[in-house]
Parts: sequence; C-alpha cells; structure tokens
Amino acid sequence: MKVLLTGGNGYIGSHTTVELLNNNFEVIVVDNFSNSKRDVKEKIEKITKKSYKLYEGDIKDKKLLENIFEKENIDAVIHFAGYKAVAESVIEPLKYYDNNLIGTINLLEVMKKYNCKKLVFSSSATVYGKPQSLPIYENFKTTTTNPYGTTKLFIEQILTDYSKSLEIKNETFYITILRYFNPIGANDYNTKDGTGVRDYIHVVDLAKAHVLAVENFKNNLNIYNVGTGNGFSVLELVDTFKKVNNIDVPYIITDRRIGDVDACYACCDKIFKELGFKAIYGIEDMCKDSYTFAINNKEK
Ligand code: NAD
Repeated sequence: MKVLLTGGNGYIGSHTTVELLNNNFEVIVVDNFSNSKRDVKEKIEKITKKSYKLYEGDIKDKKLLENIFEKENIDAVIHFAGYKAVAESVIEPLKYYDNNLIGTINLLEVMKKYNCKKLVFSSSATVYGKPQSLPIYENFKTTTTNPYGTTKLFIEQILTDYSKSLEIKNETFYITILRYFNPIGANDYNTKDGTGVRDYIHVVDLAKAHVLAVENFKNNLNIYNVGTGNGFSVLELVDTFKKVNNIDVPYIITDRRIGDVDACYACCDKIFKELGFKAIYGIEDMCKDSYTFAINNKEK
C-alpha cells in the first residue's frame, strides 16, 4: 500500500514513517520544512534501511499536490501537515486558519480528483475543551479554547460534512480522525498536587496507532482517542524524569496558562476494540527515551 504523509517530516510524521516502512508500506512524504529539519529523511533511511520519496512543498499549493497524485498511485493519506503552537495561534489566528484549513480543503479536493479514498487525520484532545467528566469518551461534546484547537474542530466538522455528502451520493470515502492526548500544563489546578494531569503517550505508540488506522477503516467516518488511559500530573512527570534518568530537573511554578484544563485523560476502549490498539510504553519509558533523544541530538 502506498501512503502519502503530509507533514511527514515532522515529529509524529517521522515516527510514523519509520513504523510504516518497518511494516513494508511504501511511503511518500510532502513537507514544506516550516517546522522540521531536512536531515530527517537521511536519519530515517539509516534507521530503517529503507528509502522513500520526499516532495518539498506546501499543501496549500494545489498544483504541487496534483503533481504528486499524478505521479504516484496513492492509496491512502495520513494528514499531519499543519501549524500546532497554541500560543502563536492566539497571536496569529489567520495564519493558523489559512494553513490548517486551506491545506486540508486542497487535499480533499485533490484526493477526490485522483480517486484516493482513505484519509487519516491528526486531531487533538484539545477539541474536548474542559471535559464534562473523566475519562474522556469520543462522544463527549466538543469545544475549544484557542484558534489552534478551533482549526482542529473546524477540520473535524469539514470531514464530517464531507463524509455525509458522499454517503448521500453513495460514494465510498473512508476517514479516520485520531484525537491525540499529551499536552503539558502547570500549576494551581484542582488535582492531587495542584499541577495539571495529562494522558501522556509515547510517540512510538502513537505512530503505531497510525499503521493500524490506515490498514483498518471500520466505517466511513471513525473517531478515536489515542492515549494510554492514565493521567499523570506534571509534578509526577518531573519526579519520574529525575528518577529514571538520575538527573535533577529544575522547575519554576508560575501562573497557570490561560485555557488549560485541570485534568484530561482518555478512555481508549474504542480504538482497542475496533483497531486492536493499546499503548505499550509507560511513563518511565517516555521519560527515558525523550532524555536519550535530547542528549543524542543536542545542538553542537
Ligand atoms: P510538527 O510541526 O512536528 O509536524 C508538522 C509538519 O508539517 C512539519 O514538518 C511542518 O514542516 C509541516 N507543515 C506544516 N504546514 C505545512 C504545509 N502547509 N505544507 C506542507 N508541510 C507543512 O507537528 P507534530 O507534533 O508532528 O504534529 C503533527 C500533527 O499532529 C499536527 O497536525 C498537529 O496539530 C497534530 N497534533 C500534535 C500534537 C502534539 O502534541 N505534537 C497533539 C495533537 C495533535
């Protein structure tokens, strides 16, 4: 199966590229390098001992997308490309609406033109806003607290409307929306130690969820939480980081970030039942692996 990864050079996309290549998928990446480094491809090819094609360019450029679909016979798309910085989105909302929404609409139009019928989209737990209770289920009501989150919610709505319209026309098109859990917050939250509680997931587990998603579309439109189902506070994370890496982690307690919720963790039963996905890495692995990565990739 040939899979196009928009934004496949970025943090989650690059890990997903590794997992797909290890599972013998053919991978094509399109990325404009607005938030990733050019040497990522070389590193991935070294790790996996496999090669893949990378197109440099912007998914807002419809001609470029058409050119890629014309040349490659693409079976499915995993759509990571987008801006993701919450604070910046508050200062520059138009930049976020422009990149995230226009890019997605272009992609849908070009997929339609080239008869490509499978899409996995990167959404976020941010669409739950302040959750009504815990754990969070996929059918909870959605709302957002910042323009970045609103782009995710709008895209989910666009995908839902698009899916319905195609069903009416008896056309098949498969969409899976993955809502990732893992943002970090801090301080005076209504939790056991006053720091925000979050559902941290190892990026390798997250990448593996994409492999399962692109292989199995249960319905025309599917929405899944992707987390571990466990909530850890920021202080617990800091303590674990210190313990497993045998280092000190200085921290400052400051004002809470506007819009951050007290606690947020997922119920992950649906993705387990339907796709067989379960996160295998624990909080200690995440702390160990992120520290090792930081040490090995320190700017010289
Ligand atoms: P990232 O910034 O590391 O990767 C995104 C990639 O997309 C980058 O390589 C960037 O250069 C590229 N890109 C951006 N706009 C583009 C465009 N118009 N055309 C082509 N390439 C473009 O981000 P990530 O952490 O890997 O996140 C991937 C996706 O997952 C994003 O959509 C993000 O909103 C979503 N997400 C991330 C998190 C997280 O905590 N990292 C949480 C929830 C959802």
